[in-house]
Amino acid sequence: MRPEDILALTPAGVCCKLGGFHIDPTRPVERALITHAHSDHARAGHGAVLATPETLDLMRLRYGENFAGSTQPAHYGESVKLGGTKVTFHPAGHVLGSAQIAVEANGLRVVASGDYKNVPDPTCAPFALVPCEVFITEATFALPVFRHGDADGEIAKLLHSVALFPERAHLVGAYSLGKAQRIIALLRKAGHEAPIYLHGAVESITRYYAGRGIALGELRAVRGASKAELAGTITLCPPSALNEIWARRFPDPVTAFASGWMRIRARARQHGVALPLVISDHADWDGLIATVTATGAGEIWVTHGQEDALVHWCATRGLKARPLDIVGYGEEDDDAVSPGPVEGNGEAEA
Ligand SMILES: [Zn+2]
Ligand SMILES: [Zn+2]
Repeated sequence: MRPEDILALTPAGVCCKLGGFHIDPTRPVERALITHAHSDHARAGHGAVLATPETLDLMRLRYGENFAGSTQPAHYGESVKLGGTKVTFHPAGHVLGSAQIAVEANGLRVVASGDYKNVPDPTCAPFALVPCEVFITEATFALPVFRHGDADGEIAKLLHSVALFPERAHLVGAYSLGKAQRIIALLRKAGHEAPIYLHGAVESITRYYAGRGIALGELRAVRGASKAELAGTITLCPPSALNEIWARRFPDPVTAFASGWMRIRARARQHGVALPLVISDHADWDGLIATVTATGAGEIWVTHGQEDALVHWCATRGLKARPLDIVGYGEEDDDAVSPGPVEGNGEAEA
């Protein structure tokens, strides 16, 4: 059996004929296995959905009760038989509930990792290394220029600015699923105890995280807060809100944007961001190559992002590698090739 007999690319995305399912399909299918709840991976309208309980909850929050014909929770480490295959969900360290999906048949294991990062995040289970023959990796930041550095250091920059300008408001643009909650958790870890304000688009997901026992401290809705009340405070909002009329309610706001793309100064300037924060929920270049190596996989399939550099790097290490051109990824979180106030996600979320 070849790996292509287990997983193959179809117009709807990665498909396992043997098991009768797709992984993160971009079109409605009969049975979908979903790695995580970002909207480009998790779409509404599938017949049956198998995903972690958190991913199912987050899909429900975003799309409503009837987002799929039926749902089945997959707990980390538990195996499920599907057709001639065995599938197991493992933590991907990307956002709450995010999973890598291992598909096994005839002694061959292929791991579809979805989006992942291999650094600590107080809001989700840490990335689990799953040895495999074929590893499907993302390539959002697969260029040597992308080294994310230390998220705590970026949070310290934000808190320094808040201390420096106690009369101003700080507006932090962050993707509403995962990034916003991670920033809040990191602020709490750094000792920031004041109430943190939320844009309406990040409220429900943030409250869901808090309900899962993640320590986010006191949260308040921006809605209804007076200008004076917002002085000296931190507010989380979708990146798209930074340049909207909405932002005018804040006293002399300092705008920050938390994204791996902030490593590129021109990106920050282009979006009028005063305080770029290099914080990403994706592995950086070092993280990608360390992970690819550690899986022991002899064959690497590369999805969404900067596939070429990673495919080339694999070739120099004697690994078989090829890009998987999946149309439809990269509309939410740092996957978006050109994130920012104009193209960024967020305005569509209730
Ligand atoms: Zn994602
Ligand atoms: Zn993605």
